[in-house]
Amino acid sequence: MELSVRVKTGDKIRLHDIDPGFRAGLDKEQAAESVAELGAKLGDLTNLLYAAGTHSLLVVLQGRDTSGKDGLIRRFLTYINAQSCRVASFKQPTSEELAHDYLWRIHAQAPARGSIALFNRSHYEDVLVVRVHGLVTTATCRQRFVQINAFEELMHRHGTVIVKLMLHISDDEQKERLLEREADPTKSWKLDIADWEERKRWPEYEKAYEEAMSHCSPAHAPWRIVPADRKWFRDLAALSALVEALEPHRDGWMKALEARGREQIRLLAEYRAKEGAGAGTK
Ligand code: AMP
Ligand code: MG
Repeated sequence: MELSVRVKTGDKIRLHDIDPGFRAGLDKEQAAESVAELGAKLGDLTNLLYAAGTHSLLVVLQGRDTSGKDGLIRRFLTYINAQSCRVASFKQPTSEELAHDYLWRIHAQAPARGSIALFNRSHYEDVLVVRVHGLVTTATCRQRFVQINAFEELMHRHGTVIVKLMLHISDDEQKERLLEREADPTKSWKLDIADWEERKRWPEYEKAYEEAMSHCSPAHAPWRIVPADRKWFRDLAALSALVEALEPHRDGWMKALEARGREQIRLLAEYRAKEGAGAGTK
């Protein structure tokens, strides 16, 4: 069963029609078992990705404030080897960043072969927040969709597996989470008046998200809309999307590693033969 909604370029999406509280008939306990299994698989697959060094993984996280981007990153990091992983959070651009094209700061954080990048917000802010605030025109946004597709295709052709997750929460859930932050001294540092301001613009954000996802979801980098009102379901659906994207590479990575292992053994045998019997094991 699909746990998230996979978008295809050209799809007409209505976020309003997708239930943020969807749980595929599961409860938290059932999900916990699957989360543990998927987490173990993700750990395994990302170790192979690291060792094989032929591909990289880019995870793009978008969603309104409090949708759980930070929480999901913490969850991923419990399974992924931190040595091969970097988190990049994209905030309001600095003046230096603004003096470049909008993809400049993004490209600098793209993952190298053998490594993983988790993007907390991304180049999509440049067709979302700037659009909602009227800083760019609709025509500019349409050009940017083309540029973003070309940019992601370049990364894909270079061996980057791209997983794009839109964390979908309801208006009520967001309000509850913002109010919770006020009541919890360990979370109130995250508060920002802008969160309440942006809330008012959610209908405009919805439209901007729908259009961006509908234009930028080729088969090698589709958007997935993750029901995120329940944190445990969000984790389950997101982990499942990552494992699904990486799993097809498992055999290829195993073969590459086995071939490399055989080559090392052959080289060692050669070395020992040259040094005289047994010399290389002393
Ligand atoms: P947070 O994710 O809560 O740390 O907030 C980061 C803020 O930076 C959000 O309000 C984003 O909308 C904003 N932001 C990120 N990228 C851009 C961008 N390219 N242009 C304008 N604002 C941005
Ligand atoms: Mg915030």
